[in-house]
Amino acid sequence: NKQVILKDYVSGFPKESDMNIVDSTITLKLPQGSNDVVLLKNLYLSCDPYMRIRMTKDTTAELGALTPGFPLTGFGVSKVVESGHPDYKKDDLVWGITNWEEYSLVPTTGMYKIEHNDVPLSYYIGILGMLGLTAYVGFFELGSPKKGENVYVSAASSAVGQLVGQFAKLHGCYVVGSAGTKEKVDLLKNKFGYDEAFNYKEEPDLNAALKRYFPEGIDIYFENVGGKTLDAVLLNMKLHGRIPVSGMISQYNLTQPEGVTNLAQIIYKRIRFEGFVISDYFHLYTKFLEFVLPLIREGKIVYVEDIAEGLENGPAALIGLYSGRNVGKQVVVVAHE
Ligand code: NDP
Repeated sequence: NKQVILKDYVSGFPKESDMNIVDSTITLKLPQGSNDVVLLKNLYLSCDPYMRIRMTKDTTAELGALTPGFPLTGFGVSKVVESGHPDYKKDDLVWGITNWEEYSLVPTTGMYKIEHNDVPLSYYIGILGMLGLTAYVGFFELGSPKKGENVYVSAASSAVGQLVGQFAKLHGCYVVGSAGTKEKVDLLKNKFGYDEAFNYKEEPDLNAALKRYFPEGIDIYFENVGGKTLDAVLLNMKLHGRIPVSGMISQYNLTQPEGVTNLAQIIYKRIRFEGFVISDYFHLYTKFLEFVLPLIREGKIVYVEDIAEGLENGPAALIGLYSGRNVGKQVVVVAHE
């Protein structure tokens, strides 16, 4: 059973050498009397920015710290090999939390059965999983968008960002996104339908860039990166603007987080600045699926994935998120169905 093991807690930017690929043996049989666990064959694993936060010893991450010497855990799409739970049977396809290994014995809590498989299975760790729900909840529930409003999305070609931009366009908003390469900027404009897009690495003065794209200011800023970007955005928000705070990827690897100096704008501009963790919103999952599945089937939403073949390529794919190597949702293929 090939596994990706966390060697030790990580400080600063993660490296491939922080993880080991090992081969262990596993009995492909459920232990006797295990009635709320399943044995899974993992097919697709999700690389997510929050996984780095769980590699810090004294983390405040929702799911706590990972344990050195054991496999990473994260979202995955898997096939049931054997089940002790009456709701799951052999060959069912599921998504939920699993381990970074070929076969896993995991509890069924927080596991979802895949009912619609006329769409790519890997979508269940992306657009049809917690990332799609993050874009949906952040934009519609926390952003309270109105037609015609001005929306800015950072990390705009990321797994979440590409969806926020498309949801905002479908809602009739003016949408600008930023990303870190020319290839991604082209995608934003030509594939995801952003009205405007720019490479933030080529903008020495982010405040000036935002003034250029939003002469009348920003109504909704979908926050994915934090730090200097947030500071510049605060100067460009409109009165009663909203900032759903999904993530701050620019801060996750810093031992000393960057200071944000313009926070008082939140008061002057009566901004709603609201952080959220998607595990609090899974009650909206069915409603979200009903919203998004028809859009995928009708081709009104597209979804770009970056596929890494093989568990052994998982560590490189994961650390690539923090240098922007991924173009779209980073998926690791462990096995084809
Ligand atoms: P992805 O893993 O798909 O992409 C991450 C992208 O972030 C990179 O490709 C890179 O793109 C950009 N990035 C990396 N470092 C920096 C930096 N220092 N400054 C600016 N951009 C950077 O991201 P997701 O869509 O999965 O996640 C986006 C955000 O949403 C993250 O902050 C994540 O933590 C958060 N999130 C929050 C959830 C919640 O429950 N609140 C749930 C899921 C995600 P580029 O080339 O453009 O720099």
